[in-house]
Amino acid sequence: MAKHKTHYEDCDVLVVGGGMAGTGATFEARHWGRDMNIICVEKANIDRSGAVAQGLYAINCYMGMQWGENQPEDHVRYARNDLMGMVREDLGYDMARHVDSTVHMFDEWGLPMMKNEKTGRYLREGKWQIMIHGESYKPIVAEAAKKSADKIYNRIMITHLLMDEAQENRVGGAVGFNMRTGDFHVFRSKTVIVAAGGASHIFKPRAVGEGMGRTWYAPWSNGSAYALPIAVGAKMTQMENRIVLCRFKDGYGPVGAYFLHLKTYTQNANGENYEKKWYDQTKELVGEYIDHHPTPTCLRNHAFIQETIAGGGPIHMVTTEAFQDPHLETVGWENFLGMTVGQAVVWASQNIDPKYTNPELTTSEPYVMGSHATCSGAWVSGPEDLSPPEYFWGYNRMLTIDGLFGAGDTVGGSAHKFSSGSFTEGRLAAKAAVKYINDQKADGIKVTDKQCEDFKEAIFKPLETYQIAQNEITGGTVSPSYISPIQGLQRLQRIMDEYVGGIATNYMTNGNMLKRGLELLAWLEEDLEKVGAEDLHQLMRAWELKHRALTSQCVTEHTMFREETRWPGYYYRGDHMKLDDDNWHCLTVSRRDPKTGKFSLEKVPVYHIVDEHEKKKAS
Ligand SMILES: Cc1cc2nc3c(=O)[nH]c(=O)nc-3n(C[C@H](O)[C@H](O)[C@H](O)COP(=O)(O)OP(=O)(O)OC[C@H]3O[C@@H](n4cnc5c(N)ncnc54)[C@H](O)[C@@H]3O)c2cc1C
Repeated sequence: MAKHKTHYEDCDVLVVGGGMAGTGATFEARHWGRDMNIICVEKANIDRSGAVAQGLYAINCYMGMQWGENQPEDHVRYARNDLMGMVREDLGYDMARHVDSTVHMFDEWGLPMMKNEKTGRYLREGKWQIMIHGESYKPIVAEAAKKSADKIYNRIMITHLLMDEAQENRVGGAVGFNMRTGDFHVFRSKTVIVAAGGASHIFKPRAVGEGMGRTWYAPWSNGSAYALPIAVGAKMTQMENRIVLCRFKDGYGPVGAYFLHLKTYTQNANGENYEKKWYDQTKELVGEYIDHHPTPTCLRNHAFIQETIAGGGPIHMVTTEAFQDPHLETVGWENFLGMTVGQAVVWASQNIDPKYTNPELTTSEPYVMGSHATCSGAWVSGPEDLSPPEYFWGYNRMLTIDGLFGAGDTVGGSAHKFSSGSFTEGRLAAKAAVKYINDQKADGIKVTDKQCEDFKEAIFKPLETYQIAQNEITGGTVSPSYISPIQGLQRLQRIMDEYVGGIATNYMTNGNMLKRGLELLAWLEEDLEKVGAEDLHQLMRAWELKHRALTSQCVTEHTMFREETRWPGYYYRGDHMKLDDDNWHCLTVSRRDPKTGKFSLEKVPVYHIVDEHEKKKAS
């Protein structure tokens, strides 16, 4: 252990992950905490990290309140509809009422925004989206964070949260290692804001072997945002609500601008509108939800999946009409160049010119995240002016661990935040964290050297395991004494794929499959004690895998608990194929006991706050 130097930092606000939410949190922490010590720790480099690393072509969440375009209530209704009723409306409203101010700052900071030439307003792509030239999006928000933080640490992966030893259930900081130097870093902190992104690669991706890594969601999002809080006993919500995306095949290029701006549409191999064909069958499953407008994302997926199973594929996006307009053709291509260059390369390599050939679509493997058309994540307190008692315990966006906050993909129950809403939520969390410190809630935190040393030993163990076991390697990588991170990852992905509703079963699972999945995950957990790492990069892979495995356990437990199919098109419970509002119009909340590793689950009421207010006003 001596060869891994230890560095200590003491700070007030520690931000874990410098993506959209993390840069927002770092920026806002400085605004409220002028004299505070603020540190942001990032696994990659904040200039190009997180899901927005390559850039974006649209900011997907902007109300436009200054022009009366939308109000926060409208956004709550929209998110509630899309998630089949299951959202935390207090969190959604709180984000929506602040998001415009965030976007206006992006504009001031130099993000190139497209303008509507006639009205002078931001150019709308859809009701909620505004268009940007977004290649520089991430460096711009990173600069705001860099100017605000006392220190930014790049290339450090946070592996564990530290807990206070003086007072139960209070956070004390976090530890991790530098992937370039191999040094061990201890951050003793009064508050921690986890903003470490979502989870890809827990389900087997469509692209394996040579294409591995080509997923829709960022391949480096490894579920730390969930595993860190789960490991210390924080409550989680809606972890069953994984998301499946309909995207252009093989490159996972986005379809939003195509549908909304280019007005392209989909059809099956025979040129038919297949969505209409599945209306009656879907109505059987979910009742009147299929008549909602806009059609919830999962239900559109459902029609796609059923049509494919029935032999109507491949499904195509009809681009050949829109692309006859040279302006729309340019927009179509630029859409990829700003954020998913790979899609343009795939089309070039497959001789697809969308002006003459309608490109194929696919449904992705499932991902777990809290900021897109889905809302898995931590169970957090809402704001004091909006939240009912069950949703409020003192500090906005604080998890059920004192001093531990979350934002962006980390936070459950608040879908459709996207990049701007995640940055906004980071700001809200940071403001509350500073207040928590000013209220002297973080006084007297005790973190012993022993706690840190124990984590140090655990973190570097995979290097030791490899060093000892490497002499037994046969056939290149096979050893009786350890498993490599890639072997462990592929085993995890297969379990999730085959038992928990991945692509192998057309997103189908049931109680028996989930039970078996949990057994296999428990054995994997045992074997991960023997994961080996031949260098520091593999050490990162080993810890990414451990975080993915813990996240997967939580997803599986939640999927087992909810005995209905709430979101057909995201996944199906074959033993409970129908949506069941009588028994399951509620949020699911779990807690893993850190001592025993056992999960317990409960139902928590879902409050439709927005329309309750409207009803009260009317009466
Ligand atoms: C393909 C794709 C397209 C999208 N398109 C749009 C769009 O067009 N418009 C829009 O508004 N939104 C879009 N989004 C959504 C948007 O990108 C996310 O909502 C937003 O990035 C979430 O913010 P976050 O901070 O939670 O996660 P991220 O921005 O992903 O940041 C997480 C950060 O945590 C770091 N990290 C992870 N683990 C650790 C660890 N253990 N230790 C330290 N650091 C860690 C990561 O490196 C990363 O920098 C898209 C997302 C994807 C994946």
